[in-house]
Amino acid sequence: MDEKQIEKFRFGVLTSKGHAEVHEMRLPKLSEHQVLVKQLACNICTADYGQWLGLREHQGYPMAGGHEGAGIIIETGDKVVELLPGDFVAISNNYCGECEYCRRGEESQCVIRSSYDLHEGGYKGRMGFAEYQVRNATAVVKMNPKLSPSEAAFLEPLATVAKGIGKLNVRPQDTVAVIGAGTMGLLNAQAARACGARVIVTEMMEKKITTARDMGFEVVDVRKNDPVKIAKQFTDGRGVDAVIVAAGATKANEQAAAMLKHFDGRILMFAAAYPPPKLGITSNDIHYRRMEILGTYLGDTKDFLEAARMLNQAVVDVKPLIEKSHPLDEIQKAFEEAAKPGNYRVSVLLHDQGGGEGTCSE
Ligand SMILES: [Zn+2]
Ligand SMILES: [Zn+2]
Repeated sequence: MDEKQIEKFRFGVLTSKGHAEVHEMRLPKLSEHQVLVKQLACNICTADYGQWLGLREHQGYPMAGGHEGAGIIIETGDKVVELLPGDFVAISNNYCGECEYCRRGEESQCVIRSSYDLHEGGYKGRMGFAEYQVRNATAVVKMNPKLSPSEAAFLEPLATVAKGIGKLNVRPQDTVAVIGAGTMGLLNAQAARACGARVIVTEMMEKKITTARDMGFEVVDVRKNDPVKIAKQFTDGRGVDAVIVAAGATKANEQAAAMLKHFDGRILMFAAAYPPPKLGITSNDIHYRRMEILGTYLGDTKDFLEAARMLNQAVVDVKPLIEKSHPLDEIQKAFEEAAKPGNYRVSVLLHDQGGGEGTCSE
């Protein structure tokens, strides 16, 4: 089949709470600054399965979501200069490049960003779970072909980590505690370690404890040990320099403040949860202890480029964070698996990948 002649494509869509279906749509026309991507894999993010669970329904239906994807370029528009058919790419963010935010390098605040997520037929979302997609040339990043599509698809979540780690200003002499060894916790932990910091991970689930230990981290099993006590022991009683909260819970927020050194500690709030957790400390605590409480969300273009380097140069290893994969036809099953507590990323494979990755990897 000549792939340039594709007229329609199939894609995964959430139609209501608990319902993921495969729909079909006409392929939009390629404009001069766009590329046609044969999408190979898209991982199911918390934002995706959260909506499937009914926790993030404010995102709206029909939701053709999926923003953690990778694939191969099969056609380029006339004015695309840097990308060629055959290039292996991962999805980054859409932005206009013209508004003041974009010009400042703050593309995640682009004023027309959300308009890119509306499609023919009223579908919303980034259309990651789609066989093909026309994308702006500026909204993909070239990836190392040695990575599997499911690995390259970690570009977006890792870009959000790159942004957070940059804000937290992690230094080699720091001891950093990461609360939660889920996908985002272990991406943060690897990125902090890559900055030279000593990293402690706290977790309560056996499986995640094992994954974190296998990655070489010092792990506190919070079922057996008080993480605050251990954090102090690790630092000769001082407390850690920074905490990354990668578990959305009031208790985690309280623990973060307690693990931190008395003065000038930094806390990065990485996780969201519904209903929203409480901060767990008072403004007096922040004042007297000169604490820095930082928030992070999304990534800008420079964060995507940093994340691409981390993946392409194998600074982070995301293989252990791919739980399993399902073909597009099993999209409902894929969401069921993604939503199971303790599971790492579930990858939706959009085309037959010719062995290697086609079945459950673990
Ligand atoms: Zn995501
Ligand atoms: Zn803009």
